[in-house]
Amino acid sequence: MDFETIAAISTAMGEGAIGIVRLSGDEAIKIADSVYRSPKGKSLADVKSHTIHYGHMVDPATNQMVDEVMVSVMKGPNTFTREDTVEINCHGGLVSVNKVLQLVLNQGAKLAEPGEFTKRAFLNGRIDLSQAEAVMDLIRAKTDKAMNMALGQVEGKLSKLIRALRQEILETLAQVEVNIDYPEYDDVEEMTHRLFKERCEHVKAEIERLLQTSHQGKILREGISTVIIGRPNVGKSSLLNSLVQENKAIVTDIPGTTRDVIEEYVNVRGVPLRLVDTAGIRETEDIVERIGVERSREVLKKADLILLVLNNADDFTEEDVRLFDAVKGMDVIVLINKTDLPRKLDIDKVKDRAGNYPIIMTSLKEEVGVDQLEEAISSLFFEGNLQMGDATYVSNSRHIALLNQAKKAIEDALEGIEAGVPIDLVQIDLTKSWEMLGEIIGDSVHESLIDQLFSQFCLGK
Ligand code: GDP
Ligand code: ZN
Repeated sequence: MDFETIAAISTAMGEGAIGIVRLSGDEAIKIADSVYRSPKGKSLADVKSHTIHYGHMVDPATNQMVDEVMVSVMKGPNTFTREDTVEINCHGGLVSVNKVLQLVLNQGAKLAEPGEFTKRAFLNGRIDLSQAEAVMDLIRAKTDKAMNMALGQVEGKLSKLIRALRQEILETLAQVEVNIDYPEYDDVEEMTHRLFKERCEHVKAEIERLLQTSHQGKILREGISTVIIGRPNVGKSSLLNSLVQENKAIVTDIPGTTRDVIEEYVNVRGVPLRLVDTAGIRETEDIVERIGVERSREVLKKADLILLVLNNADDFTEEDVRLFDAVKGMDVIVLINKTDLPRKLDIDKVKDRAGNYPIIMTSLKEEVGVDQLEEAISSLFFEGNLQMGDATYVSNSRHIALLNQAKKAIEDALEGIEAGVPIDLVQIDLTKSWEMLGEIIGDSVHESLIDQLFSQFCLGK
């Protein structure tokens, strides 16, 4: 493919001593060479691929030296983008990195858009769409576990599964086609129907299995939305502070927060918690007072996890009961705080209300019980079916939507079969499902269905 040569600073902005300007495209080497001066006068156009060269960046207009650099030259297609790629390692800090970028832009490179290098890797066939999206996720991954999940997708786990499913659909379509073309046996129709049904049911089950992982996938990627509730003075702020202090805060301040709800990320034993409305807890102590009843109901409704705090040294009040009612049916962990003070709370009443919610005794003042709380959080989300490792997780909302559509089309096909609809009509639904799955990996050109069908026929006969 033929693209303009793009350039961008590919290291994080800020402190780093070394900054890298990366170029990709047909002209990458030529452009870099026009601003590069080697001590011995060699040209980057003559060097071997995948080698690194010392020299200086010089502005050809003024002959002024801009920075001392190391330049890596990598020729396509053995590069991430599959295009010729040059990386200029600058030493002079942020200012000179920017100057070098400006130099190559002056020489005809185009400033890359965010994600454009990855996009090219996709367009040049180096990675498929789901892998490209996974690279984006990788950049944004908030915890190690989310990172592993993204890595799994980069390696193409999801793609591999999707490809296998599509192949199965394709073979079914091809087989049905053969049966229609060669109806020399009496029972061909019945055979076709049976085969069709079996295969469809299998594909449907596999899609459902993938979809089941999507909830956990989303949670890992976006964090478990967690809300701390409780009457004034029970210890909500103390709980928030101890969670933030004991665990690495992933994002301490979200810049430019003008929204009503402020969030804070912490990593609790690999579980990314998104603590919602921390401002409400810190500032006015009362989420309802600060953002209003309606708004706080919304916040509660969207929460994945509720930490409901009670006061060990106080009665179990009507207000506490109302809090339990407000979060009915959700994932709740009950904390009985201030266990260092004499008990006034009726524990039996609490147990009655709590049902099967875990109850954790804490004294946040004396730093007791936080470990048990963390244990409860992690087992709530990692016990049972959620095991990291080999499993493939679907976390991207576009993928989830497409999987749902593919599943719907398969269900339509199955219904058609049951209702005795002619097989070539049922095929349309199956083809649709094949296309939806293909969109996940960015490979759904209709012609390729025809091509593949064609090649299968040739093989088959
Ligand atoms: P909030 O109003 O629910 O946010 O409660 P705070 O976290 O602001 O705590 C209210 C008061 O209770 C503060 O003076 C805390 O120091 C105190 N406190 C919090 N946890 C404990 C605890 O476990 N034991 C005791 N004795 N005091 C606590
Ligand atoms: Zn408070």
